[in-house]
Parts: sequence; C-alpha cells; structure tokens
Amino acid sequence: MKSPNPLTRFIDLCHRIYARDFVPGSGGNASMRLGDRIVITPSGVSLGMLEEQDLVTIAMDGSVIGAGKPSKEWRMHMNCYERDDVNVVIHVHSPYSVAVACLTDLDHSCAMPVYTPGYSVRVGALPVVPYYRAGSTELANSIIAIMADRNSLLLENHGVLTVGATIDQAFNLVEEIEENAHLHFTLNGRGKPLSRQQQDDLNGKY
Ligand SMILES: [Zn+2]
Repeated sequence: MKSPNPLTRFIDLCHRIYARDFVPGSGGNASMRLGDRIVITPSGVSLGMLEEQDLVTIAMDGSVIGAGKPSKEWRMHMNCYERDDVNVVIHVHSPYSVAVACLTDLDHSCAMPVYTPGYSVRVGALPVVPYYRAGSTELANSIIAIMADRNSLLLENHGVLTVGATIDQAFNLVEEIEENAHLHFTLNGRGKPLSRQQQDDLNGKY
C-alpha cells in the first residue's frame, strides 16, 4: 500500500530514480508542489542517499524558505509550475536518453523514431531544447514554450525533463523515454518505427 505521506512518497521517487541508474553521482533533481510551495532536492546530494530533512522548500516567488541550498536547476523547475496541472517535475541524466541528446544529427523537433504504441501515445515526437549551461537562466527559460503544452523534452547534450500531475505520471515518462532511447541504440538503424498513420490511429484508442 502506498504511503499517504507525500514527502515519504517523494523520497521514495528519488531513491527509485537513483536505483534505476537514471542519475550518476549527485546529478539529477526532482521537485513536488505542496500547496503554495515547492519542495526540491538539494544541491550536491545523491538522490540515492536523500532523506526528508535534506529537501529544500521554495516559495512560488523563488525564495528559499528555511534552510538548505536548492538544486541549481530550481529556476527550470519553477518555470514548469507556471502550469496549474503540474505537481511534480523530474530532471535526470538517464544514459540512453543522454546519448540521444548528444547525437550529431539531432532533429530538434523529434529526437528519435517512435517504436512502440505506448511511447507514441505518452511521448510521441520528443522535442529538444538547444544546449545551455546547466543551472543557467537561459536553460530554465528555454523550456517554457515547449512545456506549455507537453509533459516531456530533451535537453541537448544534457538530459531529460518531465512533468506530471502525479509522481507516477512524471516518472513513467522518464522510463518511457529511456526505454525508447535504449531500443533506438539496440536496433542500431535496423528498426522499423511506427508510421505516421499507425501513430494517428492510436489516438484515443490506447
Ligand atoms: Zn542536469
């Protein structure tokens, strides 16, 4: 049975992200809306080791409430919460997705072919924002237009950003994207992606 305590479930999410090898070292960050504030993972602490008291609280104006130093990507997270339906934000460096984000011939409107129905429906044509320094205001602002009407994107030469109304929604997107990226490299150019018509046919039926 799932714990009713949202902070306990959030810490569990951070541990799952680490256990799945989606963040090497102290990389990656996650946050969750709690009423009129955001709790976010701290700077420089491995998500695998995180405890509730390590979390940093931020007001909606970006000011830190209490102690702690938030993840350097806190501006990117806050920009995602401009949408009222977003309650969880996850940013990871999952290896196959990062490999896609480092391809020389990257299509910024669709990072990789769509191979499976689930990925087609939940992710589809995955957009990529250009490279900006991690933690910069430029990176934080680069995601705003795309995230206004979708729940996932790639950061060039960097990683993945997903949002959701719930922890599971945001985490499932990370897993879907990593799985499709894994397939992409496993198939090594021999894969047959779903056609546009096959993808259109899934709308509302999956
Ligand atoms: Zn990052």
